Amino acid sequence: MDGTDIDREENELRAAELAQALAGADLPGRIAAIAARIPGRIVFTTSFGIEDQAITHAIVASGAPVAIVTLDTGRLFPETYEVWAETEALYARRIRAVYPAHDDLEALIIDQGINGFRMSPETRKACCEIRKVRPLKRALDGARGWVTGLRAGQSPGRAETPFVEVQDLAGRAGLKINPLADWSRARVETYIAEHGVPCNVLHDRGFPSIGCAPCTRAIRPGEDERAGRWWWEKDGRQECGLHVRAPARIGNKADHSAIGRAS
Ligand code: SF4
Repeated sequence: MDGTDIDREENELRAAELAQALAGADLPGRIAAIAARIPGRIVFTTSFGIEDQAITHAIVASGAPVAIVTLDTGRLFPETYEVWAETEALYARRIRAVYPAHDDLEALIIDQGINGFRMSPETRKACCEIRKVRPLKRALDGARGWVTGLRAGQSPGRAETPFVEVQDLAGRAGLKINPLADWSRARVETYIAEHGVPCNVLHDRGFPSIGCAPCTRAIRPGEDERAGRWWWEKDGRQECGLHVRAPARIGNKADHSAIGRAS
């Protein structure tokens, strides 16, 4: 058994315990449980959407030592920068921004042009890779836990979202925790209203999910919450590469890596 196997087994045990603890707790309690059970650095990545705003509130309310980080792609809506500033002011807390590497970005724009992501799924994924995926790796450098705002109800592709998964976090086995995995949209909205949490005004204009401005539109009645993301792509897998359920590099079996699956 090498160090990677030991890391994986420790994380799987910890994941099972943590998933149990999350099931019975309110949101600040879930954040406190995460901080209590994960030794080392914990990073929460926010895009300032409604789920992420609830988690930011819970991190502040719980006082848990969780770093709040955002990936600024350079293509966000002006409204997103507004809620970012409003959140920092309300909680008197700076949110760390991680940016794409300038040399990567310059090479991308030379190669595909400023809006080249519309040309094909490949050019779109290349843009997401440089503006999101590589910055995420830097954000998670040295982290043992990664907290996200994923919910099972956001889209069919996220229906199997568990509370906790063992994942490769920037080259080392760690835990990805989705403390809202079992919450409905309505429950998030109730939390936001009860606690006076600032929200992106685009949510009131038909944008349940908010990403980069040129790649997000308002949804139509009956569409799932993520239908407005990369809507011109027809394969139905509206994801940017940040949330990948394939931790093969650290040797996890898929059916062991997802614990506490939301119903
Ligand atoms: Fe690029 Fe669009 Fe992906 Fe943003 S969402 S990184 S603009 S392709």
